[in-house]
Amino acid sequence: MAHRVTLIPGDGIGPELAEATRRVLDATGIDFEWEVVEAGEAVIAEYGTPLPDHVLESIKRNRIAIKGPITTPVGKGFRSVNVTLRQALGLYANLRPARSIKGLDTRYEDVDLVIVRENTEDLYAGIEHMVGPDAAESIKIITRAASERIARFAFDYAVANGRRKVTAVHKANIMKLSDGLFLEACTTVAADYAGKVEFEDRIVDNMCMQLVQKPDLYDVLVLPNLYGDIVSDLAAGLVGGLGVAPGANIGTEAAVFEPVHGSAPKYAGQNKANPTALMLSGGLMLRHLGHVAEAERMEQAVRDVIAEGTATTYDLGGTAGTSQFADAVISRLERAPTSA
Ligand code: NAD
Repeated sequence: MAHRVTLIPGDGIGPELAEATRRVLDATGIDFEWEVVEAGEAVIAEYGTPLPDHVLESIKRNRIAIKGPITTPVGKGFRSVNVTLRQALGLYANLRPARSIKGLDTRYEDVDLVIVRENTEDLYAGIEHMVGPDAAESIKIITRAASERIARFAFDYAVANGRRKVTAVHKANIMKLSDGLFLEACTTVAADYAGKVEFEDRIVDNMCMQLVQKPDLYDVLVLPNLYGDIVSDLAAGLVGGLGVAPGANIGTEAAVFEPVHGSAPKYAGQNKANPTALMLSGGLMLRHLGHVAEAERMEQAVRDVIAEGTATTYDLGGTAGTSQFADAVISRLERAPTSA
């Protein structure tokens, strides 16, 4: 049976990247039925909002969406589409793998990390107020329920994707109650996976140093919201930056797959931008749908094209366009044997 997926092309370079990614996903041989809906700047004039109700309804109905980046209008009173989606759909887990790609000029060769960030609470709950004119207070919320839920997500991801270890990252030495509770929740959940997935914990500052010194020691990391936000960008930097960084926001009702980068308006419509991050986000979608072998085949095809270096986009030092990169990936996929 075909997977019905909501496809949101997005703004700026989004539509070109979305078309390239859709072609590659179709070339995996998996049957998709794409429900294309528009959100972002282009629809504001028509609907008065960058996120019309029918877009949200489409995601709720299909439970799976893949989206290009969306421009956040500055100072026009619109809430970020990404934040609205996260809240409206209860997307509690932010998933950001960072894996070295041969052929990219980076400091490390063997990074293979998966960052799992809690998406709903911590200091990002946005509960802050002034205390008199010269002091501000921001409240850090950590609950056992949300911490156990994200820990379980990290362990389940590890099991489903053959990963060996989960590291909980915290600052429980200082924030003994809030981060202490996060660590306690992770430790409790880890006991259910004993013998299947290793568990350890690290203090966040030490974690940052270790990621820079010996990233190959780590596998899946699970973090509260604020540390997760920072460490996931650090991890992207280890493997070549935002142009190749995929992401996903996943909840119990729906999952939205999207690149980490923005809409790069200056390259819009030029068939220039690199579709790697959105294609790899498509790989995460395939994994989420249970097609792990096909995801690996597709991701390998993307990596092979980059390593070969003859069909890469400008940001990776090449001269190929977005669509030529997609053509090269598709031709690799057609040559590689279909597995599982
Ligand atoms: P950006 O990621 O769009 O661009 C940063 C730099 O990276 C630019 O030089 C750009 O040209 C380059 N770049 C980004 N993606 C690329 C790609 N795929 N291939 C080649 N080069 C690429 O960040 P920005 O300029 O800060 O933001 C532009 C807009 O995107 C803003 O409106 C912002 O709000 C929005 N944004 C959206 C999302 C999202 O929808 N998830 C995420 C980040 C930013």
